[in-house]
Amino acid sequence: MAEKYLNLINGEWVEPSTGKYIENRNPADKDDLIGLFPASSEVDVNKAVAAAKIAFEKWRLIPAPKRGDVLKIVGDMMLAQKDDISFQMTREMGKVFAETKGDTQEGIDTAYYAASEGRRLFGLNAPSELPNKMNLSFRVPIGVGGFICPWNFPMAIPTWKLFPALVCGNTAVFKPAELTPKTAHTLVEIIDAAMREVLGKDYIPGVINLVHGKGSVVGEAITNHEDIDLISFTGSTDVGKRINAVAGASLKRVSLELGGKNAQIVMDDANQDLALEAVLWGAFGTTGQRCTATSRLILHEKIYDEFIKKLVAKAGKLRLGYGNDKGVDVGPCVSESQRNSVNEYVQIGKNEDKAKLVLGGEFATDGTLSKGWFYKPTIFVDVTPEMRIAKEEIFGPVLSVIKTTGLEDAINILNNTKYGLSSSIFTNNVNDAFTAVRDIKAGITYVNGATIGAEAHMPFGGVKQTGNGHREGGWTVYDFYTEWKAVYIDYSGKLQRAQIDNY
Ligand code: NAP
Ligand code: MG
Repeated sequence: MAEKYLNLINGEWVEPSTGKYIENRNPADKDDLIGLFPASSEVDVNKAVAAAKIAFEKWRLIPAPKRGDVLKIVGDMMLAQKDDISFQMTREMGKVFAETKGDTQEGIDTAYYAASEGRRLFGLNAPSELPNKMNLSFRVPIGVGGFICPWNFPMAIPTWKLFPALVCGNTAVFKPAELTPKTAHTLVEIIDAAMREVLGKDYIPGVINLVHGKGSVVGEAITNHEDIDLISFTGSTDVGKRINAVAGASLKRVSLELGGKNAQIVMDDANQDLALEAVLWGAFGTTGQRCTATSRLILHEKIYDEFIKKLVAKAGKLRLGYGNDKGVDVGPCVSESQRNSVNEYVQIGKNEDKAKLVLGGEFATDGTLSKGWFYKPTIFVDVTPEMRIAKEEIFGPVLSVIKTTGLEDAINILNNTKYGLSSSIFTNNVNDAFTAVRDIKAGITYVNGATIGAEAHMPFGGVKQTGNGHREGGWTVYDFYTEWKAVYIDYSGKLQRAQIDNY
Protein backbone atom coordinates (compact mmCIF):
# COMPACT_ATOMS: atom_id res chain seq x y z
CA MET A 1 0.00 0.00 0.00
CA ALA A 2 1.34 3.42 -0.95
CA GLU A 3 1.83 5.94 1.83
CA LYS A 4 -1.01 8.43 2.32
CA TYR A 5 -0.08 12.06 2.84
CA LEU A 6 -2.28 14.70 4.50
CA ASN A 7 -3.06 18.41 4.42
CA LEU A 8 -1.68 20.74 7.09
CA ILE A 9 -4.50 22.92 8.41
CA ASN A 10 -4.36 24.95 11.62
CA GLY A 11 -1.20 23.16 12.75
CA GLU A 12 -2.59 19.63 12.29
CA TRP A 13 -2.09 17.04 9.58
CA VAL A 14 -5.61 16.13 8.46
CA GLU A 15 -7.42 14.06 5.84
CA PRO A 16 -9.19 15.90 3.02
CA SER A 17 -12.93 16.37 3.55
CA THR A 18 -13.56 14.37 0.35
CA GLY A 19 -11.75 11.29 1.67
CA LYS A 20 -10.24 11.08 -1.81
CA TYR A 21 -6.60 10.92 -2.87
CA ILE A 22 -4.53 11.43 -6.04
CA GLU A 23 -1.67 9.14 -7.07
CA ASN A 24 1.81 10.60 -7.49
CA ARG A 25 4.01 8.55 -9.83
CA ASN A 26 7.58 8.70 -11.09
CA PRO A 27 7.56 10.08 -14.66
CA ALA A 28 10.65 7.98 -15.48
CA ASP A 29 8.89 4.80 -14.34
CA LYS A 30 5.12 4.76 -14.21
CA ASP A 31 5.16 1.58 -12.06
CA ASP A 32 6.83 3.52 -9.26
CA LEU A 33 4.02 4.86 -7.05
CA ILE A 34 5.41 7.52 -4.71
CA GLY A 35 2.35 8.16 -2.59
CA LEU A 36 -1.28 9.21 -2.37
CA PHE A 37 -2.03 12.90 -1.85
CA PRO A 38 -5.28 14.61 -0.83
CA ALA A 39 -7.83 15.53 -3.49
CA SER A 40 -9.12 18.39 -1.36
CA SER A 41 -12.20 20.52 -1.89
CA GLU A 42 -13.42 24.02 -1.19
CA VAL A 43 -14.31 22.87 2.33
CA ASP A 44 -10.64 22.27 3.09
CA VAL A 45 -9.66 25.61 1.59
CA ASN A 46 -12.25 27.36 3.76
CA LYS A 47 -10.83 25.74 6.90
CA ALA A 48 -7.29 26.65 5.92
CA VAL A 49 -8.19 30.27 5.19
CA ALA A 50 -10.09 30.58 8.48
CA ALA A 51 -7.05 29.27 10.37
CA ALA A 52 -4.68 31.58 8.48
CA LYS A 53 -6.89 34.57 9.21
CA ILE A 54 -6.84 33.95 12.97
CA ALA A 55 -3.11 33.17 12.92
CA PHE A 56 -2.38 36.44 11.11
CA GLU A 57 -3.43 38.52 14.13
CA LYS A 58 -0.74 36.81 16.23
CA TRP A 59 1.97 36.26 13.62
CA ARG A 60 1.99 39.93 12.57
CA LEU A 61 2.91 40.86 16.16
CA ILE A 62 5.96 38.57 16.30
CA PRO A 63 8.96 40.87 15.72
CA ALA A 64 10.27 40.55 12.17
CA PRO A 65 13.79 39.47 13.29
CA LYS A 66 12.17 36.60 15.20
CA ARG A 67 10.14 35.65 12.13
CA GLY A 68 13.48 35.71 10.34
CA ASP A 69 14.87 33.28 12.92
CA VAL A 70 12.25 30.78 11.76
CA LEU A 71 13.53 31.09 8.19
CA LYS A 72 17.12 30.64 9.39
CA ILE A 73 16.17 27.30 10.96
CA VAL A 74 14.21 26.39 7.81
CA GLY A 75 17.38 26.98 5.75
CA ASP A 76 19.46 24.86 8.15
CA MET A 77 16.95 22.00 7.99
CA MET A 78 16.78 22.13 4.20
CA LEU A 79 20.56 22.08 4.02
CA ALA A 80 20.71 19.02 6.28
CA GLN A 81 18.18 17.21 4.07
CA LYS A 82 19.40 18.57 0.73
CA ASP A 83 20.28 15.24 -0.91
CA ASP A 84 17.15 13.47 0.24
CA ILE A 85 14.85 16.32 -0.80
CA SER A 86 16.54 16.43 -4.21
CA PHE A 87 16.41 12.66 -4.72
CA GLN A 88 12.67 12.66 -3.99
CA MET A 89 12.14 15.66 -6.24
CA THR A 90 13.83 13.89 -9.16
CA ARG A 91 11.68 10.87 -8.44
CA GLU A 92 8.45 12.83 -8.61
CA MET A 93 9.13 15.24 -11.49
CA GLY A 94 12.00 13.81 -13.50
CA LYS A 95 14.79 16.38 -13.87
CA VAL A 96 18.27 15.07 -13.08
CA PHE A 97 19.67 14.95 -9.55
CA ALA A 98 22.25 17.73 -10.15
CA GLU A 99 19.38 20.02 -11.18
CA THR A 100 17.08 19.12 -8.30
CA LYS A 101 20.03 19.82 -5.99
CA GLY A 102 20.22 23.26 -7.59
CA ASP A 103 16.48 23.68 -7.05
CA THR A 104 16.85 22.81 -3.34
CA GLN A 105 19.90 25.10 -3.00
CA GLU A 106 17.86 27.98 -4.40
CA GLY A 107 15.35 27.36 -1.63
CA ILE A 108 18.15 27.37 0.97
CA ASP A 109 19.54 30.64 -0.43
CA THR A 110 16.05 32.14 -0.35
CA ALA A 111 15.61 31.04 3.28
CA TYR A 112 18.83 32.70 4.44
CA TYR A 113 18.08 35.79 2.39
CA ALA A 114 14.61 36.05 3.96
CA ALA A 115 16.05 35.39 7.42
CA SER A 116 18.37 38.37 7.15
CA GLU A 117 15.63 40.52 5.62
CA GLY A 118 13.83 40.07 8.96
CA ARG A 119 16.46 42.41 10.43
CA ARG A 120 16.11 44.91 7.61
CA LEU A 121 12.69 45.41 5.97
CA PHE A 122 13.69 49.04 5.79
CA GLY A 123 11.15 51.82 5.74
CA LEU A 124 11.75 55.34 4.39
CA ASN A 125 11.65 58.56 6.33
CA ALA A 126 11.43 62.08 4.96
CA PRO A 127 11.43 65.52 6.56
CA SER A 128 8.10 67.14 7.33
CA GLU A 129 7.20 70.42 5.68
CA LEU A 130 6.11 71.71 9.11
CA PRO A 131 8.24 72.37 12.20
CA ASN A 132 8.19 70.00 15.17
CA LYS A 133 6.69 67.21 13.14
CA MET A 134 8.19 63.89 12.07
CA ASN A 135 7.27 61.79 9.03
CA LEU A 136 7.90 58.05 8.87
CA SER A 137 6.83 55.37 6.47
CA PHE A 138 7.23 51.66 7.10
CA ARG A 139 6.04 48.29 5.90
CA VAL A 140 3.16 46.37 7.40
CA PRO A 141 2.02 42.84 6.49
CA ILE A 142 -1.06 42.41 4.34
CA GLY A 143 -2.88 39.37 5.66
CA VAL A 144 -3.61 35.91 4.23
CA GLY A 145 -1.81 34.92 1.04
CA GLY A 146 -2.85 32.24 -1.44
CA PHE A 147 0.14 30.57 -3.11
CA ILE A 148 -0.39 28.52 -6.26
CA CYS A 149 2.67 26.86 -7.75
CA PRO A 150 3.79 24.80 -10.78
CA TRP A 151 5.71 21.51 -10.85
CA ASN A 152 8.91 22.45 -12.67
CA PHE A 153 10.69 24.04 -9.70
CA PRO A 154 8.84 22.27 -6.90
CA MET A 155 11.09 23.68 -4.17
CA ALA A 156 12.54 26.97 -5.42
CA ILE A 157 9.27 28.55 -6.58
CA PRO A 158 7.24 27.91 -3.40
CA THR A 159 10.17 29.24 -1.33
CA TRP A 160 10.38 32.40 -3.45
CA LYS A 161 6.80 33.08 -2.43
CA LEU A 162 6.37 31.67 1.06
CA PHE A 163 9.61 32.83 2.68
CA PRO A 164 9.36 36.56 1.96
CA ALA A 165 5.60 36.47 2.62
CA LEU A 166 6.14 34.87 6.04
CA VAL A 167 9.03 37.05 7.14
CA CYS A 168 6.91 40.10 6.27
CA GLY A 169 4.25 38.81 8.70
CA ASN A 170 1.65 37.34 6.36
CA THR A 171 0.11 33.90 6.78
CA ALA A 172 -0.24 31.33 4.01
CA VAL A 173 -2.48 28.86 2.23
CA PHE A 174 -0.30 26.90 -0.17
CA LYS A 175 -1.56 24.79 -3.07
CA PRO A 176 1.29 22.98 -4.81
CA ALA A 177 1.08 21.44 -8.28
CA GLU A 178 -0.70 18.12 -8.39
CA LEU A 179 2.42 16.58 -9.96
CA THR A 180 4.85 17.56 -7.18
CA PRO A 181 3.04 17.22 -3.85
CA LYS A 182 5.83 15.31 -2.10
CA THR A 183 8.38 18.14 -2.29
CA ALA A 184 5.69 20.54 -1.06
CA HIS A 185 4.91 18.20 1.84
CA THR A 186 8.56 18.13 2.91
CA LEU A 187 8.88 21.91 2.64
CA VAL A 188 5.79 22.55 4.77
CA GLU A 189 6.85 19.92 7.30
CA ILE A 190 10.15 21.80 7.67
CA ILE A 191 8.51 25.22 8.00
CA ASP A 192 6.12 23.92 10.65
CA ALA A 193 8.94 22.22 12.58
CA ALA A 194 11.01 25.42 12.49
CA MET A 195 8.00 27.45 13.75
CA ARG A 196 7.62 25.05 16.68
CA GLU A 197 11.33 25.19 17.47
CA VAL A 198 11.59 28.98 17.42
CA LEU A 199 8.23 29.86 19.01
CA GLY A 200 8.12 26.99 21.54
CA LYS A 201 5.04 27.26 23.75
CA ASP A 202 4.00 30.34 21.80
CA TYR A 203 3.65 28.29 18.59
CA ILE A 204 0.90 29.74 16.39
CA PRO A 205 -1.13 27.15 14.46
CA GLY A 206 -2.29 28.15 11.00
CA VAL A 207 0.57 30.42 9.92
CA ILE A 208 1.34 27.97 7.13
CA ASN A 209 -1.38 25.74 5.69
CA LEU A 210 -0.96 23.16 2.94
CA VAL A 211 -3.97 22.13 0.84
CA HIS A 212 -3.27 19.56 -1.86
CA GLY A 213 -5.52 19.03 -4.85
CA LYS A 214 -6.56 20.12 -8.28
CA GLY A 215 -6.11 23.61 -9.63
CA SER A 216 -9.66 23.60 -10.95
CA VAL A 217 -10.98 22.93 -7.42
CA VAL A 218 -8.49 24.05 -4.77
CA GLY A 219 -6.88 26.76 -6.92
CA GLU A 220 -10.26 28.18 -7.86
CA ALA A 221 -11.45 28.16 -4.25
CA ILE A 222 -8.36 30.10 -3.17
CA THR A 223 -8.74 32.62 -5.97
CA ASN A 224 -12.41 33.19 -5.12
CA HIS A 225 -12.05 33.34 -1.35
CA GLU A 226 -13.04 36.67 0.21
CA ASP A 227 -10.59 36.35 3.08
CA ILE A 228 -7.55 35.83 0.87
CA ASP A 229 -5.85 39.20 0.57
CA LEU A 230 -3.17 38.43 -1.97
CA ILE A 231 -2.33 35.75 -4.50
CA SER A 232 1.04 34.77 -5.83
CA PHE A 233 0.83 32.46 -8.83
CA THR A 234 3.42 30.88 -11.11
CA GLY A 235 2.23 28.83 -14.05
CA SER A 236 0.74 29.12 -17.49
CA THR A 237 -0.41 32.38 -19.04
CA ASP A 238 -3.96 31.08 -19.54
CA VAL A 239 -4.45 30.17 -15.89
CA GLY A 240 -2.73 33.42 -14.86
CA LYS A 241 -5.23 35.47 -16.85
CA ARG A 242 -8.10 33.63 -15.26
CA ILE A 243 -6.72 34.15 -11.75
CA ASN A 244 -6.21 37.84 -12.40
CA ALA A 245 -9.78 38.23 -13.64
CA VAL A 246 -11.36 36.32 -10.75
CA ALA A 247 -9.17 37.90 -8.06
CA GLY A 248 -9.73 41.33 -9.59
CA ALA A 249 -13.38 41.15 -8.62
CA SER A 250 -12.40 41.41 -4.95
CA LEU A 251 -9.35 43.66 -5.61
CA LYS A 252 -6.82 41.16 -4.32
CA ARG A 253 -3.18 41.95 -4.87
CA VAL A 254 -1.97 39.48 -7.50
CA SER A 255 1.54 38.55 -8.62
CA LEU A 256 1.77 36.47 -11.80
CA GLU A 257 4.86 34.73 -13.19
CA LEU A 258 3.83 33.11 -16.45
CA GLY A 259 5.14 31.62 -19.67
CA GLY A 260 8.19 32.35 -21.77
CA LYS A 261 9.61 31.85 -25.26
CA ASN A 262 13.21 32.60 -24.50
CA ALA A 263 15.94 32.99 -27.07
CA GLN A 264 19.70 32.88 -27.22
CA ILE A 265 21.40 35.03 -29.87
CA VAL A 266 24.82 33.93 -31.12
CA MET A 267 26.75 36.56 -33.09
CA ASP A 268 29.49 35.70 -35.57
CA ASP A 269 32.24 36.98 -33.24
CA ALA A 270 31.09 34.90 -30.26
CA ASN A 271 33.02 32.19 -28.46
CA GLN A 272 31.25 29.35 -30.22
CA ASP A 273 32.22 26.57 -27.81
CA LEU A 274 30.79 28.54 -24.92
CA ALA A 275 27.63 29.40 -26.86
CA LEU A 276 27.20 25.74 -27.74
CA GLU A 277 27.54 24.57 -24.16
CA ALA A 278 25.01 27.22 -23.11
CA VAL A 279 22.36 26.34 -25.65
CA LEU A 280 22.57 22.63 -24.82
CA TRP A 281 22.10 23.43 -21.14
CA GLY A 282 19.39 26.02 -21.80
CA ALA A 283 17.36 23.98 -24.27
CA PHE A 284 17.57 20.47 -22.86
CA GLY A 285 18.24 20.94 -19.13
CA THR A 286 15.10 20.10 -17.12
CA THR A 287 13.96 18.50 -20.39
CA GLY A 288 13.19 22.01 -21.64
CA GLN A 289 10.52 22.41 -18.97
CA ARG A 290 11.77 25.64 -17.44
CA CYS A 291 10.01 28.94 -17.78
CA THR A 292 13.46 30.27 -18.77
CA ALA A 293 14.35 27.41 -21.14
CA THR A 294 16.07 28.33 -24.41
CA SER A 295 13.47 27.42 -26.97
CA ARG A 296 14.85 29.57 -29.80
CA LEU A 297 18.41 29.88 -31.02
CA ILE A 298 19.00 32.96 -33.19
CA LEU A 299 22.17 32.26 -35.14
CA HIS A 300 24.23 34.66 -37.23
CA GLU A 301 24.25 33.58 -40.88
CA LYS A 302 28.06 33.59 -41.06
CA ILE A 303 28.36 30.76 -38.52
CA TYR A 304 24.97 29.12 -39.14
CA ASP A 305 25.90 25.84 -40.86
CA GLU A 306 29.02 25.20 -38.84
CA PHE A 307 27.29 25.84 -35.49
CA ILE A 308 24.30 23.65 -36.30
CA LYS A 309 26.56 20.78 -37.27
CA LYS A 310 28.31 20.88 -33.89
CA LEU A 311 25.04 21.40 -32.03
CA VAL A 312 23.28 18.41 -33.58
CA ALA A 313 26.30 16.19 -32.94
CA LYS A 314 26.42 17.17 -29.25
CA ALA A 315 22.66 17.10 -28.64
CA GLY A 316 22.47 13.66 -30.24
CA LYS A 317 24.84 12.36 -27.56
CA LEU A 318 22.77 13.49 -24.57
CA ARG A 319 21.88 10.46 -22.43
CA LEU A 320 18.24 10.05 -21.46
CA GLY A 321 17.17 8.19 -18.35
CA TYR A 322 16.00 8.26 -14.74
CA GLY A 323 17.51 11.42 -13.28
CA ASN A 324 18.68 9.70 -10.09
CA ASP A 325 20.89 7.32 -12.12
CA LYS A 326 24.51 8.30 -12.76
CA GLY A 327 25.51 9.62 -16.19
CA VAL A 328 22.03 10.77 -17.19
CA ASP A 329 21.81 14.19 -18.88
CA VAL A 330 18.10 14.49 -19.61
CA GLY A 331 15.10 13.12 -17.72
CA PRO A 332 11.55 12.48 -18.94
CA CYS A 333 8.73 14.92 -19.57
CA VAL A 334 6.80 15.40 -16.35
CA SER A 335 3.68 13.53 -17.46
CA GLU A 336 2.01 11.73 -20.32
CA SER A 337 -0.08 14.77 -21.21
CA GLN A 338 2.98 17.03 -21.20
CA ARG A 339 4.76 14.62 -23.56
CA ASN A 340 1.71 14.57 -25.84
CA SER A 341 1.58 18.34 -25.91
CA VAL A 342 5.29 18.48 -26.87
CA ASN A 343 4.66 15.95 -29.61
CA GLU A 344 1.75 18.01 -30.97
CA TYR A 345 4.08 21.00 -31.37
CA VAL A 346 6.62 18.79 -33.12
CA GLN A 347 3.92 17.74 -35.60
CA ILE A 348 3.09 21.42 -36.18
CA GLY A 349 6.80 22.01 -36.89
CA LYS A 350 6.99 19.03 -39.23
CA ASN A 351 4.06 20.42 -41.19
CA GLU A 352 5.88 23.70 -41.83
CA ASP A 353 7.25 23.53 -45.37
CA LYS A 354 10.41 25.48 -44.71
CA ALA A 355 11.43 24.23 -41.25
CA LYS A 356 13.64 21.13 -41.20
CA LEU A 357 13.73 18.56 -38.39
CA VAL A 358 17.39 17.63 -37.90
CA LEU A 359 17.25 15.75 -34.58
CA GLY A 360 14.72 13.79 -32.51
CA GLY A 361 11.06 14.51 -33.12
CA GLU A 362 9.69 11.39 -31.43
CA PHE A 363 9.13 9.52 -28.16
CA ALA A 364 12.23 7.78 -26.75
CA THR A 365 11.25 4.18 -25.99
CA ASP A 366 14.47 2.14 -26.02
CA GLY A 367 14.79 -0.36 -23.15
CA THR A 368 13.73 1.00 -19.79
CA LEU A 369 12.85 4.38 -21.35
CA SER A 370 9.57 2.77 -22.41
CA LYS A 371 8.52 2.89 -18.73
CA GLY A 372 8.52 6.69 -18.66
CA TRP A 373 7.47 9.81 -20.55
CA PHE A 374 10.71 10.31 -22.48
CA TYR A 375 11.02 12.48 -25.57
CA LYS A 376 14.14 12.72 -27.73
CA PRO A 377 15.97 16.06 -27.74
CA THR A 378 14.58 17.74 -30.85
CA ILE A 379 15.98 20.42 -33.13
CA PHE A 380 14.27 22.27 -36.00
CA VAL A 381 16.43 24.47 -38.25
CA ASP A 382 15.49 27.09 -40.85
CA VAL A 383 12.60 28.16 -38.64
CA THR A 384 11.18 31.59 -39.48
CA PRO A 385 9.89 34.04 -36.90
CA GLU A 386 6.21 33.79 -37.83
CA MET A 387 5.98 30.00 -37.38
CA ARG A 388 4.09 28.74 -34.34
CA ILE A 389 7.15 26.79 -33.12
CA ALA A 390 9.01 30.13 -33.09
CA LYS A 391 6.34 31.98 -31.12
CA GLU A 392 4.51 29.66 -28.73
CA GLU A 393 5.78 28.10 -25.54
CA ILE A 394 6.38 24.35 -26.03
CA PHE A 395 7.74 23.48 -22.57
CA GLY A 396 9.72 20.45 -23.70
CA PRO A 397 13.07 19.44 -25.24
CA VAL A 398 12.49 21.23 -28.54
CA LEU A 399 14.77 23.92 -29.99
CA SER A 400 13.90 26.11 -32.98
CA VAL A 401 16.87 27.58 -34.83
CA ILE A 402 16.37 30.86 -36.70
CA LYS A 403 18.92 32.51 -39.01
CA THR A 404 19.78 36.19 -38.56
CA THR A 405 21.64 38.73 -40.69
CA GLY A 406 22.91 40.91 -37.83
CA LEU A 407 22.30 42.47 -34.44
CA GLU A 408 19.24 44.60 -35.15
CA ASP A 409 17.52 41.76 -37.01
CA ALA A 410 18.42 39.31 -34.21
CA ILE A 411 16.92 41.56 -31.53
CA ASN A 412 13.76 42.06 -33.60
CA ILE A 413 13.38 38.30 -33.94
CA LEU A 414 14.00 37.82 -30.23
CA ASN A 415 11.33 40.39 -29.35
CA ASN A 416 8.79 38.90 -31.76
CA THR A 417 6.75 37.00 -29.16
CA LYS A 418 4.04 37.83 -26.68
CA TYR A 419 6.36 36.76 -23.84
CA GLY A 420 9.37 38.49 -22.27
CA LEU A 421 11.03 36.43 -19.56
CA SER A 422 14.66 35.51 -20.25
CA SER A 423 17.11 36.18 -23.07
CA SER A 424 20.76 35.83 -23.90
CA ILE A 425 23.38 37.10 -26.32
CA PHE A 426 26.78 35.63 -27.07
CA THR A 427 29.18 38.21 -28.47
CA ASN A 428 32.64 39.58 -27.76
CA ASN A 429 31.70 43.00 -29.13
CA VAL A 430 31.03 45.28 -26.19
CA ASN A 431 28.90 47.70 -28.24
CA ASP A 432 26.64 44.89 -29.47
CA ALA A 433 26.33 43.51 -25.95
CA PHE A 434 25.18 46.83 -24.47
CA THR A 435 22.84 47.52 -27.39
CA ALA A 436 21.23 44.13 -26.77
CA VAL A 437 20.90 44.80 -23.04
CA ARG A 438 19.13 48.07 -23.88
CA ASP A 439 16.83 46.84 -26.67
CA ILE A 440 15.83 43.31 -25.71
CA LYS A 441 12.34 43.32 -24.20
CA ALA A 442 12.67 40.83 -21.37
CA GLY A 443 12.86 40.79 -17.58
CA ILE A 444 16.23 39.02 -17.66
CA THR A 445 19.15 39.29 -20.12
CA TYR A 446 22.37 37.29 -19.93
CA VAL A 447 25.52 38.32 -21.77
CA ASN A 448 27.66 35.29 -22.60
CA GLY A 449 25.50 33.07 -20.41
CA ALA A 450 22.60 30.66 -20.98
CA THR A 451 18.99 31.87 -20.60
CA ILE A 452 18.81 30.01 -17.29
CA GLY A 453 20.58 30.58 -14.00
CA ALA A 454 18.76 33.18 -11.94
CA GLU A 455 20.20 33.95 -8.51
CA ALA A 456 17.94 34.10 -5.46
CA HIS A 457 18.78 37.67 -4.49
CA MET A 458 18.06 39.23 -7.91
CA PRO A 459 14.63 40.31 -9.21
CA PHE A 460 13.05 37.51 -11.25
CA GLY A 461 10.19 37.88 -13.71
CA GLY A 462 9.24 39.06 -17.14
CA VAL A 463 7.57 41.70 -19.26
CA LYS A 464 4.60 41.53 -21.66
CA GLN A 465 2.42 38.43 -21.14
CA THR A 466 5.01 36.76 -18.91
CA GLY A 467 3.53 38.55 -15.95
CA ASN A 468 1.77 41.55 -14.49
CA GLY A 469 4.75 43.65 -13.54
CA HIS A 470 5.79 42.10 -10.24
CA ARG A 471 9.08 40.33 -9.57
CA GLU A 472 10.02 37.43 -7.36
CA GLY A 473 13.34 36.92 -5.63
CA GLY A 474 15.61 39.73 -4.56
CA TRP A 475 14.62 42.84 -2.67
CA THR A 476 11.72 43.88 -4.90
CA VAL A 477 9.49 41.02 -3.75
CA TYR A 478 9.33 42.60 -0.30
CA ASP A 479 7.24 45.37 -1.81
CA PHE A 480 4.73 42.81 -3.03
CA TYR A 481 4.29 41.25 0.41
CA THR A 482 3.86 44.48 2.39
CA GLU A 483 1.70 47.57 2.47
CA TRP A 484 3.22 50.96 3.18
CA LYS A 485 1.98 52.87 6.16
CA ALA A 486 2.70 56.62 6.38
CA VAL A 487 2.88 58.07 9.90
CA TYR A 488 2.93 61.78 10.90
CA ILE A 489 3.95 62.66 14.44
CA ASP A 490 3.27 66.22 15.48
CA TYR A 491 5.03 67.36 18.66
CA SER A 492 4.38 71.11 18.23
CA GLY A 493 1.41 71.19 20.59
CA LYS A 494 -0.62 72.98 17.90
CA LEU A 495 -2.91 71.89 15.10
CA GLN A 496 -0.62 72.41 12.11
CA ARG A 497 -2.35 72.31 8.75
CA ALA A 498 -0.15 71.06 5.88
CA GLN A 499 -0.16 73.21 2.73
CA ILE A 500 -2.26 75.83 4.52
CA ASP A 501 -0.41 77.13 7.57
CA ASN A 502 3.00 76.99 5.94
CA TYR A 503 2.30 78.63 2.55
P1 NAP B 1 -0.49 25.56 -14.88
O1 NAP B 1 -1.24 24.51 -15.55
O2 NAP B 1 -0.89 26.96 -15.11
O3 NAP B 1 -0.54 25.20 -13.33
C1 NAP B 1 0.08 25.98 -12.33
C2 NAP B 1 -0.67 25.82 -11.04
O4 NAP B 1 -1.98 26.38 -11.16
C3 NAP B 1 -0.88 24.37 -10.61
O5 NAP B 1 -0.79 24.29 -9.22
C4 NAP B 1 -2.30 24.12 -11.09
O6 NAP B 1 -2.93 23.05 -10.44
C5 NAP B 1 -2.95 25.44 -10.79
N1 NAP B 1 -4.19 25.71 -11.51
C6 NAP B 1 -4.64 25.13 -12.66
N2 NAP B 1 -5.84 25.65 -13.00
C7 NAP B 1 -6.16 26.57 -12.07
C8 NAP B 1 -7.27 27.45 -11.87
N3 NAP B 1 -8.29 27.50 -12.71
N4 NAP B 1 -7.25 28.28 -10.80
C9 NAP B 1 -6.22 28.28 -9.95
N5 NAP B 1 -5.16 27.45 -10.07
C10 NAP B 1 -5.11 26.62 -11.12
O7 NAP B 1 1.07 25.48 -15.24
P2 NAP B 1 2.01 24.21 -15.17
O8 NAP B 1 1.68 23.35 -16.33
O9 NAP B 1 2.01 23.62 -13.82
O10 NAP B 1 3.44 24.89 -15.35
C11 NAP B 1 3.96 25.22 -16.58
C12 NAP B 1 3.78 26.70 -16.87
O11 NAP B 1 4.31 27.50 -15.83
C13 NAP B 1 4.54 27.15 -18.10
O12 NAP B 1 3.72 27.99 -18.87
C14 NAP B 1 5.72 27.90 -17.55
O13 NAP B 1 6.28 28.84 -18.40
C15 NAP B 1 5.15 28.52 -16.35
N6 NAP B 1 6.21 28.84 -15.40
C16 NAP B 1 6.53 30.16 -15.25
C17 NAP B 1 7.52 30.53 -14.37
C18 NAP B 1 7.87 31.96 -14.20
O14 NAP B 1 8.40 32.32 -13.16
N7 NAP B 1 7.60 32.85 -15.13
C19 NAP B 1 8.18 29.55 -13.63
C20 NAP B 1 7.83 28.22 -13.80
C21 NAP B 1 6.82 27.89 -14.69
P3 NAP B 1 -2.78 21.54 -11.01
O15 NAP B 1 -1.42 21.10 -10.64
O16 NAP B 1 -3.83 20.77 -10.34
O17 NAP B 1 -2.97 21.61 -12.50
MG1 MG C 1 4.72 12.77 -10.26
